[in-house]
This record gives sequence, structure tokens and C-alpha cells, in this order.
Amino acid sequence: MRNPDIITFGCRLNSFESEIIRSKATQAGLDDVVVVHTCAVTAEAERQARQAIRRARRERPDAKIVVTGCSAQISPEVYAGMTEVDHVIGNKEKLEVFAWRSLGGVEASRVIVGDADQISETAGHLVDGLDGRCRAFVQVQNGCDHRCTFCIIPYGRGSSRSVPVGEVVTQTRRLVENGHKEVVLTGVDLTSYGKDLPGEPTLGQLARRLLKLVPALPRLRLSSIDPAEVDPDLFELIAAEPRLMPHLHLSVQAGDTLTLKRMKRRHTRDDVIALSRICKGLRPEIAFGADLIVGFPTETDAMFENTLRLVEEADLTYLHVFPYSAREGTPAARMPQLPKTVIKERAARLRASGDVALGRFLDREKSRRAMLLVEKSRGGHTETFAPFRFCEAAKAPAPGTLVPIKAERVEDGMLVGHLAA
Ligand code: SF4
Repeated sequence: MRNPDIITFGCRLNSFESEIIRSKATQAGLDDVVVVHTCAVTAEAERQARQAIRRARRERPDAKIVVTGCSAQISPEVYAGMTEVDHVIGNKEKLEVFAWRSLGGVEASRVIVGDADQISETAGHLVDGLDGRCRAFVQVQNGCDHRCTFCIIPYGRGSSRSVPVGEVVTQTRRLVENGHKEVVLTGVDLTSYGKDLPGEPTLGQLARRLLKLVPALPRLRLSSIDPAEVDPDLFELIAAEPRLMPHLHLSVQAGDTLTLKRMKRRHTRDDVIALSRICKGLRPEIAFGADLIVGFPTETDAMFENTLRLVEEADLTYLHVFPYSAREGTPAARMPQLPKTVIKERAARLRASGDVALGRFLDREKSRRAMLLVEKSRGGHTETFAPFRFCEAAKAPAPGTLVPIKAERVEDGMLVGHLAA
């Protein structure tokens, strides 16, 4: 029997869920299946998914092609309308073996997509590892109760819900037993973790408990967090827990307070600067990544300049720049849109300032001793998530190992060096 092929788009949550889909489709005994796991965050992500579907049909004319994920959940008719597609499965159903089993039958429904608002349970499915990855993502939260004006995600993933602490511990233990040295806690709105659980444990309390109950876990990392919702326990861990990686990826979205208000975000530009300064005070080597949207409707040149200046003022290093993409059904899509040329030009300028910020950061990192999680690419990432590769002459240890490294130089946006003595 041929294992299902899964083409995954989008976030770490999708990567984690793709492992569950793989095991459910295999359990269902489906042979010759291609699953396209979509993302709805941008129009570009949806275009790429449709392209992947057409390619899969060309390359695998007899395979069963199944489309799932947020874009399939929000616009099932779009994929059901493609002749290349056999079935469309929703975000809840994709995690349930019954849905995959039903595809084997002659009466199989073409579209199996329920109401996102009815999705109540969290995955809670255990995975052994993430296909070929050294860094393992663990889903601890799903869905979102916020309604940022540009965002379509809540319409695909439903309301916020958390995986109980005990299940997160069990999942993490299994990954560590299977050799993973680093785990990344992931979710849609990670900092709203626990609000739906008895006793309302916070993200910081979850991390503290996890590190206590899984002493063999060398590195714990957090995926994207809301700058307005960092809890006291998380600040304490940032200050005192070496196994919590000194790297925070912030869901900033813009560096202008009026734009943030129009986005219905919960923070101001000054809050981001203050958070950066507090965390640097607690852990001087800490590094920040940031999601930033450019070209949000009504964004003026002056507002964009505020975003550009925030990169240095908050010492942001790893920029994920998103040219604004109108999502049908969101309030921002009904606002006056900026010309595509302006959006493109601003994205290029912000990415360029990101390259400068990364270069500045890597020059600082060069002199620091660091531990590297070796990945496939004869390289990997340090604790601060600095990208590193071994110089040609150096012997690269096996992927998945943790080793001390010494950087010699910075090249092409990464540290280059060798094992430290
Ligand atoms: S917090 Fe905002 S941007 Fe993030 S998933 Fe929720 S609605 Fe979307």
C-alpha cells in the first residue's frame, strides 16, 4: 500500500496536523492518495494550492486527490468546482478517521465540511514525530476568539480552545523519547492558551509545567505570540529558564498605532517597544521575530515609516513581511484598498530593512558561544534562532544532534563556522 502524499501549506499548526492526517488516512487503508493541506491567510497561498492540485493530477492521474485545511474549510465550493479534485474535507473532519474511511466507499461524499463554529475539541492526537523534521511542533491551542479586521483564520478554525496540560506533556515526552531535542509550542492564538480549561492555566504556566515534567527536553521554543498577552510566568521563565529558548516571534502586524487600531489589534507600537526592552532586561541575548503586514487599507506613507522605524526601535530581527491581501468576508476588505504597486514597494523596503537588522544581529552573535540543533542542511539554528551552516572544511554532525559551535563569519544572512572545541 502506498503511503499518502501530503502537500502542506501555511503554518506550523498545519505541519503538525499533516502528521495526524497521514496517520488517519493510513489507518483508513486508503491507497494512492494525495492530500493538499491548504492555508487561507493570503490569496497567494490559495493560488499555490490550486497550482499544486493541478500538478498532482497531472503527475498522479489515478490518485485520489483530497483538499483540506483553512481554505477548503472557508471556500469548499472553490475546490469542489475543480475537476482535478475528488474530495474536500473540513478542518474538523480532517482529524477524524471516519472521514477518511468514508472516502474508500463508492457512495463517498465529494464535500465533507462542517461548520467551523461548531469545532469544539482540540486535536489531542499524538504524533511520533514530524516527517523528517528535527524540530517538533506540538499543537497546544487552536482557533481564535479575536476578530482582527484583516484576518480570515477564525472563519476557518473556529473559536479558541486549548489542549489540556497533561496531553501536551504526554505528546512532548513521546517526541523526546523518539529523539527530538527541541519542541515548538504552536497554536493559532498561542497566548490565549488555557482560557477554556479548568483553572485557566496560562501559556507561561504550561511551559513551566512542561519543563518540570519533561526534564529530558533540552530546548523549548514558542511559535508566534501576541505582544499584548505575555503572562507573568512567561516573563519569569524568560529571565531564569535556560531551556526556554531566548527567541520570541511576535505577532506585531504593524508599527503604527492608528493602523493597529484599524486592525483591531490589542497592542500599540509603544507596547511592542516596551515588551522588547523588558525582555532584553530579563535576557540580554534574546532575539525577536515579527509578523508585519504592509499596505493595510488607509496606511499612509507616514504610517508606513512608523513600521519601518519600529524594526530598529524594538530590535526586531527576523521579519516575516506580508503584503496586505484582501480576504473576502473580512472588514478590511471593505475598506479603501491601496494600489498593488504601493504595497509591493513597501514590502520591498521593509524586507530590505529586515536584511539590515538580521546582519546587525548576526554580527553580534558571531562572537557569542552557542549550541546548535543540527538540521539536514549541514547547518541549523542556535538558541536565538540564528541560522548557521558549517564551513566546507568542517565535519557536520548528524541531524537532530545538539552541538557547541563557533561562528567565524557572516555570509548570505547566516553564521558560518565550525564545532567549538
Ligand atoms: S489573533 Fe487576529 S490575526 Fe491572529 S488568528 Fe486571531 S483574528 Fe487572526
